[in-house]
Amino acid sequence: MNDGASDIGRYRSRSLWLDEYPGSLDPRPPLQGDLDCDIAIIGAGFTGLWTAYYLKREAPDARIVVLEKEIAGFGPSGRNGGWVQGGMAGTPSAYGLRNDPDLLARANSAADSSVDEIGAVVELEGIDCDFLEAGALAIATSEPQRQRQLAEIGPGQSLLSPSETEEWIKVPGVRSSFFSPTAARVDPARLVRGLADACERSGVSILERSAAIEVTPGTVRCASGTVKAETVIRATEAFTTQTKAYSRQFLPLYSLMIATEPIPDSTWGEIGWKDGLLISDHHHLFFYAQRTRGGRLAIGGRGSPYRLRTPIDDRNERNASVRSRLEETVARAFPLLAEAEVTHHWGGPLAVPRDWSMSIGFDPVAGTGWAGGYTGHGVAASNLSGRTMTDLVLGRESELTVMPWVGHKVRNWEPEPLRFLASRAIIAMLERADHYEDQNGRKAGYVRLLQPFLAEK
Ligand SMILES: Cc1cc2nc3c(=O)[nH]c(=O)nc-3n(C[C@H](O)[C@H](O)[C@H](O)COP(=O)(O)OP(=O)(O)OC[C@H]3O[C@@H](n4cnc5c(N)ncnc54)[C@H](O)[C@@H]3O)c2cc1C
Repeated sequence: MNDGASDIGRYRSRSLWLDEYPGSLDPRPPLQGDLDCDIAIIGAGFTGLWTAYYLKREAPDARIVVLEKEIAGFGPSGRNGGWVQGGMAGTPSAYGLRNDPDLLARANSAADSSVDEIGAVVELEGIDCDFLEAGALAIATSEPQRQRQLAEIGPGQSLLSPSETEEWIKVPGVRSSFFSPTAARVDPARLVRGLADACERSGVSILERSAAIEVTPGTVRCASGTVKAETVIRATEAFTTQTKAYSRQFLPLYSLMIATEPIPDSTWGEIGWKDGLLISDHHHLFFYAQRTRGGRLAIGGRGSPYRLRTPIDDRNERNASVRSRLEETVARAFPLLAEAEVTHHWGGPLAVPRDWSMSIGFDPVAGTGWAGGYTGHGVAASNLSGRTMTDLVLGRESELTVMPWVGHKVRNWEPEPLRFLASRAIIAMLERADHYEDQNGRKAGYVRLLQPFLAEK
């Protein structure tokens, strides 16, 4: 038996956000016995909860049950960097959009719409989650990084010069930057748990500590009972790979974060970092950072080594070398914060599909649906999934249901140990390339050898 108090500690230790979450993390009651409903959703992260939220809004009489293995927000939804970012979770090439400028523009606008939509629900439902749409600034600190930025910007867009960048933030050695206005900062645990409360208020039933053991069309079997439902939606992102049938659907790649002690406002003022602005860079193993409501720096990056036998495991959530790389990044990019004490270190698995692009699927005959594969973009993209899944389940054709990620088919990753070797090689080579580019100011050309395993631009 789990002892309740140590479980709460286990939940709080999952991230800064869960640690500081002001409400209770006591689990809601689990499934007890068999149950009939209209729609069963597996997973109480953003994907499952946005789907439940919009379905209940559009079909108030539907009996909706969400089954969660731990507690709402236990997964990356309660642990992430809090970037609510516009843009697609995937690449135009993967979606076959290169030669379809009209659909590309509509897809971009659908993806961007999630940022304002999340803001609107936050306001409507009174979710206190520090949502602040102040934009995101991507900085380049070497010539190869600047070149990558130039290659990524669209027609009519331009980079900011070092002096223009200084008006946003002071980072030593900055070469250029790019500002995206469609981005908001959020405390993800407060958002996901506030969303769970909003779902419950509307009549959705959330059953926690109720892991789905077997899922078939029309039924979800848990240890304590079976749920029968006309529609079953899987919303378990990276954890999907723990089911044998889907083990190669994603590469579960860990992203890790650190957070500092609260920094005085005067120091933030000296750095010039205004509240809400999100900052990232263009290293291959890039960082993403936010200044939190409590005045901490929360910064994350990839690079945690993939374990062959335990690709998803609590031990993968902390890593000494990623932690010290993040600490070095803080010292280099924000020297005034170099001495700040690091109080939290945590992480979680991203679901990376073989083409690094998300998909949403629904089979109306079997009544089964699934969504995910956001590769680190899921805070906004999951909202799009929730709205899209609602239209699919209710049988409505809409602008969302014709988007290229709906029904997007992705091949599996290579069988082990190839997936393991590929992911280890990707991380090692990207780390080396970053080091080379920082030292020499020249592009590490050999990165293109990794292209078959990375997102096609
Ligand atoms: C460190 C880190 C930083 C990130 N930063 C950002 C960011 O700044 N911006 C961004 O857009 N994205 C970011 N991401 C990615 C983002 O967090 C995810 O894409 C998103 O949270 C996925 O939401 P989800 O609901 O699909 O999955 P999850 O949050 O993983 O939720 C799935 C839920 O399913 C539950 N579950 C699993 N198996 C079962 C089962 N058998 N039965 C019942 N329940 C089950 C899990 O416990 C979990 O609660 C980050 C991720 C990490 C790890």
